[in-house]
Amino acid sequence: MTPLDTAPALRSRPSLVDGFGRAVTYLRVSVTDRCDLRCVYCMSEHMTFLPKAQVLTLEELERVTGAFIDLGVRKVRITGGEPLVRKGVMALFRALARKIGPDGLDELTLTTNGTRLAEFAVPLAEAGVRRINVSLDTLDPDRFRKLTRGGDLAKVLAGLDAARAAGLSVKINAVALRDDNAEELPDLVAWAHGQGFDATLIEAMPMGEIDVDRTDQFLSLKDVRRQFDSFWTLTDIDHKTGGPAHYVKVEETGGRLGFITPLSHNFCELCNRVRLTCTGTLHTCLGREDASDLRAVLRAGAGQAELHDAIRAAIGAKPQGHDFRIDRDAPPAVQRHMSTTGG
Ligand code: SAM
Ligand code: SF4
Repeated sequence: MTPLDTAPALRSRPSLVDGFGRAVTYLRVSVTDRCDLRCVYCMSEHMTFLPKAQVLTLEELERVTGAFIDLGVRKVRITGGEPLVRKGVMALFRALARKIGPDGLDELTLTTNGTRLAEFAVPLAEAGVRRINVSLDTLDPDRFRKLTRGGDLAKVLAGLDAARAAGLSVKINAVALRDDNAEELPDLVAWAHGQGFDATLIEAMPMGEIDVDRTDQFLSLKDVRRQFDSFWTLTDIDHKTGGPAHYVKVEETGGRLGFITPLSHNFCELCNRVRLTCTGTLHTCLGREDASDLRAVLRAGAGQAELHDAIRAAIGAKPQGHDFRIDRDAPPAVQRHMSTTGG
């Protein structure tokens, strides 16, 4: 059985299928490499950001994303860097939200650090965004300041209140870090569930040079789950978000908890996603150096058919999977940072 056989909604629409029979229905679009925070596992303290001329304009981002939707992509997640620091980004949200419908997108969503949500929650909800992911690794203001190198937790909490008031469903994403938040993770999950939010824990991935040794940070979610099992009842559930998370229900809190384990469990066989960077580079695998330059295609004046062909060719070459490892002496698995690729 191919993925198409199991997805009746796709049969009537064009679809992008890779060389291993996986239908690509999910596009993540990084709209900027810039950010107002400097999370220790994501960036180095003194990042050099891209010159503006290399970054796609909002119109170019809309055109490429639209081409993916023409070809069968059903879910678009806007990410970064921090997407809400990109000037004029609401125009892109509004344009893409107009493509939500039976012949277009099922969902337009966002991953954000939450610092600007107080300002953006209402416009996002009005545009048609229904669910957002907010990255938050700690509820301790001092630890937050240290982990983000200067961030203000109060802004994120105010943003979360605004998101709830605007009717957005929120999922809290936390990277599990051995020295920084390991002992706080149960409280963070319980807090999220108490707020009515889903929660997902993520293993730190070796992407891009940062200032600290990743082997010191890495915490296996197998160990975290074992710890949770000792005081919580975790029931496996079949909650599918089209993502790599494995979900459980925490019976004691009544909330949903996801585990994303790229290192301790490889999830490539079900991968339905590709990533477009803010420079128009298409990465068909998060953990490999493969790349197709769609900006060159766009800026050479390509028509729709040529753009579609370039996208199809890139998808046809999607690698079977990644091979993330965290070794003290090994370089990062990929040189680019998550903030460039779009997490
Ligand atoms: N700035 C936004 C935010 O923080 O949500 C969106 C971009 S950020 C790159 C997307 C997600 O990637 C965040 O949840 C962040 O925690 C995660 N991330 C960044 N670097 C990572 C790494 N090396 N390993 C695992 N997750 C990482
Ligand atoms: Fe910025 Fe998000 Fe990276 Fe943190 S994880 S530095 S908020 S892009």
